[in-house]
Amino acid sequence: MIRPPRRLPTLLSRSIAALVLAGVSTLAAAQERVLNLYSARHYQTDEALYANFTKKTGVRINRIEAGDEALLERLRNEGRNSPADVILLVDAARLWKAQIEGLFQPIRSQVLESRIPAHLRAPMGDKGSEWFSFSTRARIIVYNKATIRPEQVQTYEDLAKPALKGQVCTRSGTHPYMLSLIGAVSEHLGEAAAEQWARGVVGNFARSPRGGDTDQIKAVASGECGVALTNTYYLVRMMRSTKPEDREIVSRIGVVTPNQSTWGTHVNVSGGAVARNAPHPDVARQFLEYLASDDAQIYLADGNNEWPVVPSVRVRNEALDALGKFRTDTLPIGSIGRSQITAAKIIDRAGWK
Ligand code: FE
Repeated sequence: MIRPPRRLPTLLSRSIAALVLAGVSTLAAAQERVLNLYSARHYQTDEALYANFTKKTGVRINRIEAGDEALLERLRNEGRNSPADVILLVDAARLWKAQIEGLFQPIRSQVLESRIPAHLRAPMGDKGSEWFSFSTRARIIVYNKATIRPEQVQTYEDLAKPALKGQVCTRSGTHPYMLSLIGAVSEHLGEAAAEQWARGVVGNFARSPRGGDTDQIKAVASGECGVALTNTYYLVRMMRSTKPEDREIVSRIGVVTPNQSTWGTHVNVSGGAVARNAPHPDVARQFLEYLASDDAQIYLADGNNEWPVVPSVRVRNEALDALGKFRTDTLPIGSIGRSQITAAKIIDRAGWK
C-alpha cells in the first residue's frame, strides 16, 4: 500500500485557497463601485458630502472639478467616450444649455420626484427629469444707505426708472446670472417690455458692467454706485466675515428682496444630472438621490450659504436667516433656463454688454 505523501493535502488546500483568493480579488476589482463626478462646485463642506456617500454606499468618487464652462468644454470634447457619470453645475442658464447640447440623460426617480418640488426640476414628460436643482440662491438688490432710499429700489423694474440715473451697477449682461434674471423678467413682462426695461437699466448705469457680484457690493458700499444686484450667497459670505473691511462694507449697504408685491424675488439654483453616456448610470442615480437626502442637503446649503431645495430640511445660518422670509418667484426653473435665448437678444439690442 502506498501512502500518499502527507504534505499533499496541505499543498492542495493552500493552492486552492490561493486560487479562491485571487478569484475574489479579481471579482472585487471588477465590482468596485465607482462614480465619476464632474463638478463646478468646490466648497470645503463638499469633502464631507462626498466622504459620507462613500461611507454609506462603498462607492468611490473620482472627482473632476473645474469652472462650469471648462467642464462643459471637456464633456463636449470627450463625446461618447466621456467617463462622466454625474455633472453638477450652477445656474439654470448653464444647466439648460448643457441639456440642449445633449450632455444629460433624463431619469425617473421616485425619491427625487417626491423630495424636490416640481418647479425645481427640468421635466421630460414620461422620461422623468433631465436635471434637478439641489440648492437655491436669490438675486437681490443692494443699495447705498447714504444715497438711496429703500422705497426707490423695491423691484427689478425700479432699476430702469429715471430717478436712478447714473446709479446702477451690474456685472456683464452676458453672464449666466444676468441672463437668467433678464430671462425671468421677460417671462413675466413679455419680451417687448423686458427690452424696454433693459434699455432703462443700461441708461442708468453708473459705469460699464464689470466684475463679479462681490465687486458690485463693494462698489455700492464705496458710493461708486447707488444700487446693484447680487446673488445672496456673496452677500451672506460678507455678512459672516470677521474682516474689518467686510464689516465696514456691510454696514454701509441696505438689502431688498425685490418684487414682494408682484411676482417675487428671482431665484436660481445649483443642480445636477446624469451624464448622457454615463458608464455607471445606476450609481449616478443613487448619487443624485443621496444629494436630496437630509444630510446632503444641509452640506450643500451650508457649503455656499444657500437654501436647501427639500422643503422639510432646515439649515442654521444666522446671516442667511437675517434676510428674512420672502416671496420667491415660482417660475419653473426649466423655463428660466430656456428664456436665456430671449435674454441674449434683449441684452444685445439694449447694449447691456
Ligand atoms: Fe457664483
